[in-house]
Amino acid sequence: SPEAALVDSLITTIPNFPEPGIDFRDLTPVFADGPALAALARGLVAPFEGRFDHIGGLEARGFLIAGAASVVSGAGVLSVRKAGKLPRAVLSQEYALEYGTAALEVHIGQLPPESRVLIVDDVLATGGTALAAANLIERAGWRVAGIAVALELGGLGGRARLEGRGIETFSLLTY
Ligand code: IMP
Repeated sequence: SPEAALVDSLITTIPNFPEPGIDFRDLTPVFADGPALAALARGLVAPFEGRFDHIGGLEARGFLIAGAASVVSGAGVLSVRKAGKLPRAVLSQEYALEYGTAALEVHIGQLPPESRVLIVDDVLATGGTALAAANLIERAGWRVAGIAVALELGGLGGRARLEGRGIETFSLLTY
């Protein structure tokens, strides 16, 4: 699609970041380009049109995409934050990192029961982050409409993990 081609042209690969041997996919040039950010937002919400009520943005890069997706779709943003940032009563979901664990949190009661949430993020790798967000949203009493990412890193099993849980997964690009 033209959207995918525009986004693809701006993604930059940084070798050996954050560790030797890792190719980091940097989407900041996409975020810095107005038409590309708008194209990304349109491209991510289109497959789910009419099937979600809110956009779930994953801190921090997912927030940028969620804001843009909110403007193009008219749906508000659910803030899915890292541990310790939200001021009200939270529900927390731990997930495994390569070394140690992290947690994502949402405000209890932030959305009406059964709200359909489309989760968005920049990159899908192993799927651990997206799966934690999905678990959190379901535990909070909402429904996961799907997961939409700008870039899926194939071969890391993320899509299989999510689809194995019955979660519709869309990526604008796959590397
Ligand atoms: P996962 O949990 O293994 O699927 O990793 C996905 C999370 O790590 C997302 O929140 C991404 O923002 C981040 N991530 C993993 N690899 C990259 C990358 O190459 N570029 C940017 N973010 C990445």
